Amino acid sequence: MKPFKEKIWLASPTMHGPEIEYIKDAYATNWMSTLGENIEESERLACEKVGCKYAVALSAGTAALHMCVKLAGVKPGDKVFCSDMTFSATVNPVVYEGGVPVFIDAEYDTWNMDPVALEKAFELYPEVKLVVVAHLYGTPCKIERIRAICDKYGAKIIEDAAESLGALYKGVQTGNFGDYNAISFNGNKIITGSAGGMFLTNSLDDANKVRKWSTQARENAPWYQHEEMGYNYRMSNVIAGVVRGQFPYLDEHIAQKRAIYERYKSGFNGLPIKMNPYDEKNSEPNFWLSCMLIDEDAMCKQVRGEREASYVSEHGKTCPTEILETLAKYNAEGRPIWKPMHVQPMYRMNGFVTREGDGRTKTNVYVEGGIKGADGKPLDVGMDIFNRGLCLPSDNKMTSEQQDKIIEIIRGLF
Ligand SMILES: *Cc1c(COP(=O)(O)O)cnc(C)c1O
Repeated sequence: MKPFKEKIWLASPTMHGPEIEYIKDAYATNWMSTLGENIEESERLACEKVGCKYAVALSAGTAALHMCVKLAGVKPGDKVFCSDMTFSATVNPVVYEGGVPVFIDAEYDTWNMDPVALEKAFELYPEVKLVVVAHLYGTPCKIERIRAICDKYGAKIIEDAAESLGALYKGVQTGNFGDYNAISFNGNKIITGSAGGMFLTNSLDDANKVRKWSTQARENAPWYQHEEMGYNYRMSNVIAGVVRGQFPYLDEHIAQKRAIYERYKSGFNGLPIKMNPYDEKNSEPNFWLSCMLIDEDAMCKQVRGEREASYVSEHGKTCPTEILETLAKYNAEGRPIWKPMHVQPMYRMNGFVTREGDGRTKTNVYVEGGIKGADGKPLDVGMDIFNRGLCLPSDNKMTSEQQDKIIEIIRGLF
């Protein structure tokens, strides 16, 4: 087989036409600013789609998460429970405010925060009043159980819906479940502004605070009067033109992503792998990224250090490193699963809680084959998924012929 002539991307932006017209409008009217009709319209479209009352357009999803952390009132030294297996942007804004993330292990059912581990975490740290939870790869987490646990302990929720715009849990859009909610329009998300994000809420008061803080926190006075810390976080009206033009295509993108997921699923039929799972009864993911998890007994030997990886090729078996390297040889882009935060050098001193309680004492030792829980399954679920899983090329412009070739390449490695 020959490599692809044009690179097959993991997930790349897909423009449709209206985006450039809205950019031109901004240009022609000189609204080249952080004010303008595109911003107002993209906020309105976000509210309409997600079903919330207010949206504040910001420069990035990370900025939106930072505003969420500010609203939650995190003070230096406050511990905050956070998804462990996620992008670092879920967690870093907690640290911007001096908070101390304590990581909650993932579960196999959805690859998101494990409610059992969260419950254990509240037993260990009953003083915690905030939980930051992400919906990984567009798959809703068990938000109802997480909400019930948080209510029991009087904790608030920041919902990181950056990857899950358009996904539903029990018929309700993600981005509605948190006390504070964030979405992203980064270039590789399901729809994009090339950059950008939004804070979503039903509280006018919170929306007004974020509008103020994100525009340098000016007070109502004849001069620049400042009584609070301000930020330059507002979305540009040019970027908002792209977001505005993309919103009508969100459902089309989701349908394409779902078709990609289904094609992988049937194409891999018979292989010792599973696709990234979701609760088929209660949730509808947006299928942003298709991922696979290799069965334990079909893994060849793979060693991952801090910055490099190696593996020993073996007939009938493979590993994420071999698959990713092979895809790259054919000019296709895959990606490792988000490396869990609790094993990132910068977060190695932070707490980590598994379904059996404190994870630091139990998982910071080396056991051949990995540490198992009382149920015989790996105790550190996030690390296990990181070791055995990977994100597949999931670009919505990939043709079915191209995808079939990727399936064939991967099948050839087993
Ligand atoms: C992309 C992403 C973010 C951050 O969004 P930006 O717009 O890139 O700042 C936050 N959390 C998760 C889980 C993401 O994937």
